[in-house]
Amino acid sequence: MKRSFIEVKKAMYSALEDTYMRTGVGRGMQNYAEKYEGIFSREDVQQLKREVSELRRHVLKNIEQLYKQAIESLTKNGVYAYYAKTRQDALSILDKIIQPHELVVKSKSLVGEEIGVRDFLRLRGNEVWETDLGEFIIQLKNEKPAQMVAPALHIPREEVAALFEKQFNKKFSPDDLEGMVATARNFLRDKIARADTGITGANAISAREGTVVTVENEGNIRLTMTMPRKHVVLSSVEKVYPSTVDCVKAALTQSYFAGYDKPTYVSLTSTPSGTGDIEKVMVRPAQGSKEMYVILLDNGRLDAASSFLSDGLRCIKCGACQLVCPVFSVDGPAWGGDTYTAAIGIVWTAIVEGVDSAKPLSYFCLSCNACNEVCPADIDISGTIRLLKSSKVK
Ligand code: SF4
Repeated sequence: MKRSFIEVKKAMYSALEDTYMRTGVGRGMQNYAEKYEGIFSREDVQQLKREVSELRRHVLKNIEQLYKQAIESLTKNGVYAYYAKTRQDALSILDKIIQPHELVVKSKSLVGEEIGVRDFLRLRGNEVWETDLGEFIIQLKNEKPAQMVAPALHIPREEVAALFEKQFNKKFSPDDLEGMVATARNFLRDKIARADTGITGANAISAREGTVVTVENEGNIRLTMTMPRKHVVLSSVEKVYPSTVDCVKAALTQSYFAGYDKPTYVSLTSTPSGTGDIEKVMVRPAQGSKEMYVILLDNGRLDAASSFLSDGLRCIKCGACQLVCPVFSVDGPAWGGDTYTAAIGIVWTAIVEGVDSAKPLSYFCLSCNACNEVCPADIDISGTIRLLKSSKVK
């Protein structure tokens, strides 16, 4: 949604008065700050960062060839794979895959937010549930995600307790985090067990093998992709790497720079489930999904690859830059477009919503360079924002 500079300024000034939001963001940033030094200083993490930074440059140079190769490889694997040029194209593909009466569960997906998949499905009659806890909280509050990895970062425990009380008709103490998590777990497990379709994102997809790589801690992605009959992957063209090994490196880097010293689960998914245990004859499905679909969204990315915004496409969406940003620390998600927030979020807004939507947001960047210093992909985030601010950029 395009807003004027005055409208953005008004939203950002009123966010300064939002003590709940500032408490949530402040606690989240503090907890991240306590962890990241220890993780970033590890030699294995630094080595991985160097490799992934190089890989991202390679991916960007070969973006068209890689995503086309991935579609071929996925198709050979028995996966229905699609390129979606626009948000509307992606929704039209989903419209054919998912029937209006189906129960749908989904894991966190920024591409899903970008195309508004939850609202789209609900408006056509689907029951839809977010299975990532942060995204579930966002769904209950009916908001956009605050941050790439922790979507509910701006919602403090007191507010989560109030949201849960309304949803589950039961009192929760704000300090009973275990009780709240267990309640969400029971509720969502029941939905996952009965769902017809599971939608997940992807951290990376390999062009050569046609393998989808995801990294997570909650375990909800694995359940969402394996329990329902249909598994739909919503991803985007810049997430395709040459090989599966490259994908795993990118997924690990994303997890480390998001502040986790090790990921709980890394999943590699190449085909619908099957078994060859009887006479080596492949029968589908076995315990996992019967059908698998992958949608690779463009939505401005291929155009951006040959523009001044190309640097932004090297982002692996770890969210590290957001968690060190002084403007984000006081304004939270108020500083952002429809999906993406904070400094790199301004660049992503320019890519997927257009320069006109991002420009009013760009003037609030302080050019402190804190984002550039933490970025594992070595993106010149503040430099790109300076170009956005320039009146020469149309
Ligand atoms: S710009 Fe860099 S630090 Fe920020 S989310 Fe992307 S990869 Fe992570």
